[in-house]
Amino acid sequence: MAQLFDYVADCLLDFMETNNLKHKKLPLGFTFSFPCKQTKLEEGVLLAWTKYFKVRGVQDTDVVSSLCKALQKHKDIDVDVLALVNDTVGTMMTCGYDDQRCEVGLIIGSGTNACYMEEMRHIDLLEGDEGRMCINTEWGAFGDDGALDDLRTEFDRELDLGSLNPGKQLFEKMISSLYLGELVRLILLKMTKEGLLFNGKVSTALLTKGKIEMKHVSAMEKYKEGLGNTKEILTELNLFPSEEDCIAVQHVCTIVSFRSANLCAATLAAILTRLRENKKLLRMRTTVGIDGGLYKTHPQYAKRLHKVVRRLVPNCDVRFLLSPSGSGKGAAMVTAVAYRLAAQRKQIDATLTPFLLSLETLREVKSKMRTEMEYGLKRETQGSATVKMLPTYVCGTPDGTEKGKFLALDLGGTNFRVLLVKIRSGRRRSVQMYNKIFAIPLEIMQGTGEELFDHIVQCIADFLEYMGIKGARLPLGFTFSFPCRQASIDKGTLVGWTKGFKATDCEGEDVVDMLREAIRRRNEFDLDIVAVVNDTVGTMMTCGYEDPNCEIGLIAGTGSNVCYMEDMKNIEIVEGNEGRMCINTEWGGFGDNGCIDSIRTKYDQEVDESSLNPGKQRYEKMTSGMYLGEIVRQILIDLTKQGLLFRGQISESLRRRGIFETKFLSQIESDRLALLQVRRILQQLGLDSTCEDSIIVKEVCGVVSKRAAQLCGAGLAAIVEKKRENRGVEHLQITVGVDGTLYKLHPHFSRVLHETVKELAPQCDVTFMLSEDGSGKGAALITAVAKRLHNVGQK
Ligand code: ADP
Ligand code: MG
Repeated sequence: MAQLFDYVADCLLDFMETNNLKHKKLPLGFTFSFPCKQTKLEEGVLLAWTKYFKVRGVQDTDVVSSLCKALQKHKDIDVDVLALVNDTVGTMMTCGYDDQRCEVGLIIGSGTNACYMEEMRHIDLLEGDEGRMCINTEWGAFGDDGALDDLRTEFDRELDLGSLNPGKQLFEKMISSLYLGELVRLILLKMTKEGLLFNGKVSTALLTKGKIEMKHVSAMEKYKEGLGNTKEILTELNLFPSEEDCIAVQHVCTIVSFRSANLCAATLAAILTRLRENKKLLRMRTTVGIDGGLYKTHPQYAKRLHKVVRRLVPNCDVRFLLSPSGSGKGAAMVTAVAYRLAAQRKQIDATLTPFLLSLETLREVKSKMRTEMEYGLKRETQGSATVKMLPTYVCGTPDGTEKGKFLALDLGGTNFRVLLVKIRSGRRRSVQMYNKIFAIPLEIMQGTGEELFDHIVQCIADFLEYMGIKGARLPLGFTFSFPCRQASIDKGTLVGWTKGFKATDCEGEDVVDMLREAIRRRNEFDLDIVAVVNDTVGTMMTCGYEDPNCEIGLIAGTGSNVCYMEDMKNIEIVEGNEGRMCINTEWGGFGDNGCIDSIRTKYDQEVDESSLNPGKQRYEKMTSGMYLGEIVRQILIDLTKQGLLFRGQISESLRRRGIFETKFLSQIESDRLALLQVRRILQQLGLDSTCEDSIIVKEVCGVVSKRAAQLCGAGLAAIVEKKRENRGVEHLQITVGVDGTLYKLHPHFSRVLHETVKELAPQCDVTFMLSEDGSGKGAALITAVAKRLHNVGQK
């Protein structure tokens, strides 16, 4: 074995000397045309020798490391073996350089083999479902299990028995040039012995193995000169052919070589059909790269092969491309691609690494969140706290005795809903809801406060009309999903707009007053506004109605926020130490003092700077639906600038803010989606992507949404841990009510969130409960509870 590789190394040294390449460090691609099992590009374990090779001690070893060992003996060769390439793959790559449609490599020479691009999702042996990988079929061994026994003749059997590897490579032995001459010889020998040729006179040469070679067969089949060639060749074999003998011998040659071409066409047709089905196409255009002496030099072989392939797969338009300088160039090509991909990979990793958070970092986030929460609760620090910890004056959860009809308003980040909620108590306890959704136009979100509240009242009027209840003065709960400082349950001063809202003259004002005034301005109906409710609180209450253990409400939608039941004695800014009150944490503002800047990337900063509220809601901007798509867009722009995506072209649409909505992350990251569908989504966004682009985009989406879920989980771990400490228990069982489209519809967000909480708060057993229509129903329930408590107070 050492001999073989020493020889190869010597040849390389010789080549480098004559070409003045010594002492230069070069990447090397090694074309090795024998079946190898590869676990990476630069490693290959020889499965078995084929053709005329039979060097001992190589089978089952890695040929790359053997070559490296031999190369190391030469001090003045400095090469890096980057790729081991099968000759079929080399051929496909060489042709692929000229014709990008080339996805099959075919060798018909001394041996035969084929490779093609298979979908990763069909390769069970490998992890991963994305993209394609070239498969070296090693089809020469087709039939070794007996599958071709019906087709094999006595001559095939005889040839096999006399070969170096009996029973192996049976298909190859019917196809390739190493064997066709011998097949012809065996047939001629039998025919002669039976008196059908040469007057029955056998020569020693005809009896000698290997005396007829492929080059003879080709010469004899040549158009025009063929007959003369045949006579010459047979005479050289000491046979005395008549004119008729020569014609018969030519006929034998044609039968043998046509059988080879026909069989090859059949197996190639199988590969082409597979490709077409993989792509789910009715008709496919593709290119096959071919190399090998038999195909190149035999006078009719190529034509025959093409014709039969076209007949076998009429729905494929196949171009056959002769590999210009064969497998050597291909190996260099594979090496060059590997080189380029490795460099690209490095750049992509460098871009995305800041988004990967270690467990250690997540623990830090959790503990910082806890610190900021404490600041928010303390009288001295709450003024400057980033997590505001707003008291909500919701002190009780529903006990089931609530009943009546209520109106609820739900102003979230995107829509406005008006609801009529009928609550029944007692044994037939139930909640019935009717609702209508109204869009809030952008010019109203960012117009004046009066316009915004007039619009809200207009929507309410529509709804009352629609339900036919305009006269009834119903108690109303107002879910208002923005930070409000409350002095009582029906008073809430807007601290500052978040998400997409920026209406003027509202910050610092009481939203209940603004609503009352708008109702008065309209002067059409009156409402009894009982409660202003944060959406987290509404969500907690809705779930609390079903599960009394629910003491936390989480929103992962347009924005991100949490509320939880806190002990009154811990809430310094509200009088009294008895009982509990729900705290709206407004954790979206976490980090606004810079405490998590070390994990913010430049993309987060860009998203922040171009937002409505720069510098504010930093945690929310890393975790919620309104921003995740924008972060992805920023990364895509940067990768494109680095030339790693979209051929380096930043398209008009990629420049457009907001085109990459978070719902596209959900679609792209869906496990069931094939790469082609990802491409289609990107296409709809005006992003013309290749398959490789789609893989990268999907990776970017995955990294951004995973970080969001982990950060959210770290925050939630801080909350459940605090609750556990409040109760003074070793183990806490608690339910979190959740609402928000990001949580509900993203394929991985909820799972990663759950896993992170489990990891960071192992002593808490957290159940997550999806709130159906949480914030609206919750507002009605809070109104009902407030009404009940109020009535009790009056008695
Ligand atoms: P809100 O938070 O405004 O009350 P939602 O909980 O419905 O309302 O959240 C809406 C937000 O969810 C949208 O602004 C968008 O960012 C995000 N979103 C919408 N569709 C999807 C989706 N399929 N997957 C993930 N996020 C989505
Ligand atoms: Mg909502």
